[in-house]
Amino acid sequence: MPTLDSNIEYLKGVGPQRAEVLKKELGIFTCRDLLFHFPFRYIDRTQFHKIRDVRNEGEQVQFRGILRRLETIGEGRARRLVGSLRDDTGVMELVWFQAIHWLEKSLQVGKEYIVFGRLSEFNGRFNITHPEMEEATPDNSQKARSFDPVYPSTDKLTQKGLDARGLRKLMRVLIDGIAPADLPETLPDPLIAQYKMATRWEALRQIHFPENQRELDEATRRLKFEELFFLQLRLLQIRTRRKDALRGFAFGSIGEHFNTFYREKLPFELTEAQKRVLREIRADLGAGRHMNRLVQGDVGSGKTVVALMTMLMALDNGFQAALMAPTEILAQQHFANITELLGDLGIKVGFLSGSVKGKKRAAILEQLAAGDLHIVVGTHALIEDWVTFNNLGISIIDEQHRFGVEQRAALWKKNAHGPPHVLVMTATPIPRTLAMTLYGDLDVSVIDELPPGRKPVTTMHKNEHHRLRVQGFMRDEIAKGRQVYVVYPMIEETETMDLQNLMSGYEALSRDFPQPEYQISIVHGKMKSADKDFEMQRFVKGETQIMVATTVIEVGVNVPNASVMVIENAERFGLSQLHQLRGRVGRGAEQSFCILMTSFKLSAEGRERIQTMVRTNDGFEIAEADLRLRGPGNIEGTQQSGMLRFLLADLARDGQVLTAAREIATRILELDPALAAPEHARLRQHLASEGRDARVWSRIS
Ligand code: ADP
Ligand code: MG
Repeated sequence: MPTLDSNIEYLKGVGPQRAEVLKKELGIFTCRDLLFHFPFRYIDRTQFHKIRDVRNEGEQVQFRGILRRLETIGEGRARRLVGSLRDDTGVMELVWFQAIHWLEKSLQVGKEYIVFGRLSEFNGRFNITHPEMEEATPDNSQKARSFDPVYPSTDKLTQKGLDARGLRKLMRVLIDGIAPADLPETLPDPLIAQYKMATRWEALRQIHFPENQRELDEATRRLKFEELFFLQLRLLQIRTRRKDALRGFAFGSIGEHFNTFYREKLPFELTEAQKRVLREIRADLGAGRHMNRLVQGDVGSGKTVVALMTMLMALDNGFQAALMAPTEILAQQHFANITELLGDLGIKVGFLSGSVKGKKRAAILEQLAAGDLHIVVGTHALIEDWVTFNNLGISIIDEQHRFGVEQRAALWKKNAHGPPHVLVMTATPIPRTLAMTLYGDLDVSVIDELPPGRKPVTTMHKNEHHRLRVQGFMRDEIAKGRQVYVVYPMIEETETMDLQNLMSGYEALSRDFPQPEYQISIVHGKMKSADKDFEMQRFVKGETQIMVATTVIEVGVNVPNASVMVIENAERFGLSQLHQLRGRVGRGAEQSFCILMTSFKLSAEGRERIQTMVRTNDGFEIAEADLRLRGPGNIEGTQQSGMLRFLLADLARDGQVLTAAREIATRILELDPALAAPEHARLRQHLASEGRDARVWSRIS
């Protein structure tokens, strides 16, 4: 028997030809690779079901009963063989479309059979299509039956005899050949005992050949735990190391700027959540640790003022601060907002984006380098090489998921004396399980409270039939002095059509809401920045009542007087996008509305997205639904992340295992940060052997 690290070629039954396809098709080079090629499902023939008890379509079932009827019905392609199986609880229909002739001859009405297959539903009744049939004998009816793994395979592998069954045979050879010493334990024994887990040796064998469902569950639980636990251990270690190694600038004093702003300028009382997050930030900054913190807060939870007050802490200690936003519109709005909030405090705030050119740009750059500007607000123009600061103390990144990792990391380098503190903000709430993984090495603060007096947005689902009534509703709201957004999808792949769609929507609206009574703004990504800005400003100033736009307005735009958000083709938007768009209304004192216009026909998933939006305003609940519907790999901002590729674990479903893994990892590292204790030797060794992809994570923000 070769060792686990041997070339797969040398496993009995493989040889050079099969080894070649295994490498090409499945990336299996060694015996160990094969061992980690886990089944994607199992055929459970360990129990007999009763016909009356089964109720889930798609469920694998096995019955023992008498074949009561067998006849061919239908013509041509609908021709099929239909049988009825009766056990002591009921009757199940069996259907075959192929091999009819042969089956007619070999099956006998009146005999007892063991029938195995997958339950399907047809016209409200269950049947089994193409069941496996086996005559019942005293022998096969009593003794324990099989629980077989099914492995992913491909056409090329099948040609070499390595279909699911062939792979199963190979796996049997491999499993029978390995010894406990080949699969050393990676977890401390007390941990295994305390959580009643399978050992690694047991788990890796049982995941392939469980005796029954219980053994399979035990193996899966153990291996999922291991996967998530080591990832958490690694992330938490990175965080601890960074905290120990990186000195941050110590913002020792809360000074004049902060205090004067708080006493004299802040136009409202901070919410408890805002205060708590500011305290958390303050604790980081005051301690001289390097801060790398994520602030999560739903749309409208008031992150901007938290960002501003954090920047004031830097100013009070003689540092500059930068705030970077993903779009020009949003950056300008932050700039205007902050300038207004600060009023006459004498703080110099500058703006920098791609649209700031020539002399103006040169002046800003010079002032930044000289330290004459205290705060700079801008777009990704801020991270370009020629932007230098005199003494940048903190970088704040709004809507961080819109930036790539490198863009975010670039702000770390903007101070020659050491990395500025980093605060990243997101209004796309991330499910807890994802945050723990994606941002596992960041500290996370959550603003989980909206400012008082907000009325939740009322959301409605409408279609083309309701168009006139929706327009009537828009008129009524406009008559009350409110403003309305009408948003169209704009997706790169279908851009030309989307643009046409938007323009014809705009023209139709211009007819139905004619000048001079109504004024309409339009903003989309193909417009020049100056034109966009002009149109946007008209809406902000209340000169136009309707804003027709694409998702460029999704992020951050704040017009409190706008109370209606109409989203066209709402089924084409993702949940987090819809939630962001809805967040544009409900910012004033008035009741606001979000109207989701869709076509009549919706996919099951599309319908669920719309229903989720109608049901709840809670960004975290929506994020959880998004994760459930689309899976972790598709959540906005996570696509490029290799971190979410697990062998077994599924962040949408394994939240409990993950929470346990993180808690245990935290506890272990608190007692023994370097994992130096003898009882942690296994952990240390395993981390060292698997540590290869840990590099990039420490710089995720
Ligand atoms: P977001 O978290 O979505 O970025 P903003 O910072 O834009 O939210 O805040 C949304 C609105 O709420 C702004 O008009 C802001 O002035 C206001 N706001 C923020 N905090 C409070 C508060 N504590 N009380 C009342 N209004 C607040
Ligand atoms: Mg914001």
